[in-house]
Amino acid sequence: MNYEENDYDFENRMVDPEYVPEDGEVENPLRPRTLKEYVGQEKAKENLSVFMEAAKLRKESLDHVLLYGPPGLGKTTLAGIIANEMGVNLRITSGPAIEKPGDLAALLTNLNPGDVLFIDEIHRLSRSVEEILYPSMEDFAIDIISGKGQMAASYHLPLPKFTLVGATTRAGQLSAPLRDRFGVLLRLELYSPEELAEIVTRSAGILDIAIEPDGALEIASRSRGTPRIANRLLKRVRDFAQLMSGGVITYESAKIGLDRLEIDEIGLDANDRRMLLTIINYYNGGPVGLETLAAAIGEEAVTIEDVYEPYLMQIGFLSRTPRGRCVTHAAYLHLGLPVPGMDDGGQQKLY
Ligand code: ADP
Repeated sequence: MNYEENDYDFENRMVDPEYVPEDGEVENPLRPRTLKEYVGQEKAKENLSVFMEAAKLRKESLDHVLLYGPPGLGKTTLAGIIANEMGVNLRITSGPAIEKPGDLAALLTNLNPGDVLFIDEIHRLSRSVEEILYPSMEDFAIDIISGKGQMAASYHLPLPKFTLVGATTRAGQLSAPLRDRFGVLLRLELYSPEELAEIVTRSAGILDIAIEPDGALEIASRSRGTPRIANRLLKRVRDFAQLMSGGVITYESAKIGLDRLEIDEIGLDANDRRMLLTIINYYNGGPVGLETLAAAIGEEAVTIEDVYEPYLMQIGFLSRTPRGRCVTHAAYLHLGLPVPGMDDGGQQKLY
């Protein structure tokens, strides 16, 4: 494969773990509805099932839950499962969508007892909204002030006992008072290729796509630990399989399809290679600061942190040091470049 920059379509990145509207049509039927169907994340599932069972036995609503981890790992899905298993309704919103305290008050007062309110990107709530969220989470009540000056009146509004499920890609950016009000903190990890193969096989079954185990594993290995990407690649590879192998996804049709999409054997695309090559070519392999790197490749710093880095660090291609990001020897080898300080045979240079 050619590792040079090319005219790749950066706007429509196939391995972008963030949701794009095109995902919607397949995501809904593919979402697991129960903890049993939810593949992987054993630790989070185990804890959650204990807390849910205990809350059910006490006939109480579940404590507030904070889910954190990179995009596309199943946070929204898990919120849906919580609501389903607790037998309550799910309301979905996001930090940036709640602009004013009144928007949040309207959402909260419309909940039924026990309901799950899911706030995605909860680290992006404004300070004024956060301030009315605290008493809502703690005392299940809000104080609303209406009118101005002498006409101002304060109303104490009791709320039904609800469960807030907050999701964030970065727990570190949450204010301490908000983080402290969650009783359950669950960190979602990138999935192993075997777990992703199970997800791909399950999704293929639901979408009525014939797939061989090797084909599923090939898609899984290139999905950078992320179910959303795995499901998206499955959909694209299906088109190649239709033309190449009578509609059955085999190892060969998956490999050729994914090569054509310029996603390499370990899930890197042109964007990843461009970032690694920028650090290698312009910053001697690092360290380079996040902001400098963002400017050099024309990406937002948050995109680098949420989208590129988790996987590159997981596979040991990038390391974070106090002075910035560094490319590791493993990445040089993968890109087919000589490792600094080593001769061509991989031996340490002695001169
Ligand atoms: P997030 O909210 O973390 O961005 P989502 O919950 O929207 O991620 O998940 C993205 C897609 O991945 C969904 O379509 C869902 O079907 C699939 N998915 C996520 N986690 C799992 C899982 N553990 N098992 C099976 N499918 C999953």
